[in-house]
Amino acid sequence: MQLTDKVALITGAASGIGKEIAIEYARQGAKVVIADLVLEAASATAAAIEADGGQAMAVAMDVTNEAQVEQGVRDAVAHFGGIDVLISNAGIQIISPVVDYAFDQWKKMLAIHLDGAFLTTRACMREMIKAGKGGAIIYMGSVHSHEGSPFKSAYVAAKHGLLGLAKVVAKEGAKDRIRANVICPGFVRTPLVDKQIPEQAAQLHISEDDVVKKVMLKDTIDGEFTTTQDVAQTAIWLAQFPSTALSGQSIVVSHGWYMQ
Ligand code: NAD
Repeated sequence: MQLTDKVALITGAASGIGKEIAIEYARQGAKVVIADLVLEAASATAAAIEADGGQAMAVAMDVTNEAQVEQGVRDAVAHFGGIDVLISNAGIQIISPVVDYAFDQWKKMLAIHLDGAFLTTRACMREMIKAGKGGAIIYMGSVHSHEGSPFKSAYVAAKHGLLGLAKVVAKEGAKDRIRANVICPGFVRTPLVDKQIPEQAAQLHISEDDVVKKVMLKDTIDGEFTTTQDVAQTAIWLAQFPSTALSGQSIVVSHGWYMQ
């Protein structure tokens, strides 16, 4: 049990990577707050964790909505007594060439990935400082925090932006023993990626099989997808790390697609 009694708020935890982190955190003894757009979906993850013997609560939270973020964090603190770990994970993907990228879609991408990271960081950091017990803030970056790919301008810009936010939070948070780091996964088979495969096939005029082999996994060392479990284990390690020696960093978990 590496996270006994730690309270972790995880955004986008009704699906994919966030859901796996929530389940694994609960298995490690954490009390998890499942924050996602739709309460029913968040509640389903919380119920699955409770059925497994863990402690969880669900909150409806659009991470781009300041009032909902503030309320969700207040509800979490009222229920579990504080927040020790924030996983800013909620995200979407919209692909299009730059020349066709609609401005409202660009703004939506930046709002979810960057406004969401800022709003949840601010709300959770205030609670961590008040409690005086330190804390861990983990952003879900991507190999696209370091690399570019065609058709992903907004995603790549936003994921690079998270590195900057983490560095500032690491510097401002150090005096209160609050650490900030970024996990940068390679491609993980979640609904977010499953949706992209046919879209990329259409953009590139190639088969879906070739999107997987020749685009997504082309530069990995072994042709393998990163798994939700790989990311969850990294998130456990980052949360339980005992000192501010590990802060302001990005950890790439990508089967060697990107080597720092
Ligand atoms: P997913 O689609 O399975 O899950 C994303 C979750 O975020 C969903 O539950 C969705 O409802 C929620 N969400 C979307 N907009 C939200 C909002 N405004 N407020 C609150 N919740 C919102 O996707 P995933 O693959 O698990 O992605 C999770 C994170 O991991 C994202 O930030 C993504 O960019 C990142 N990531 C994914 C991959 C991958 O290959 N799947 C690789 C690197 C990074």
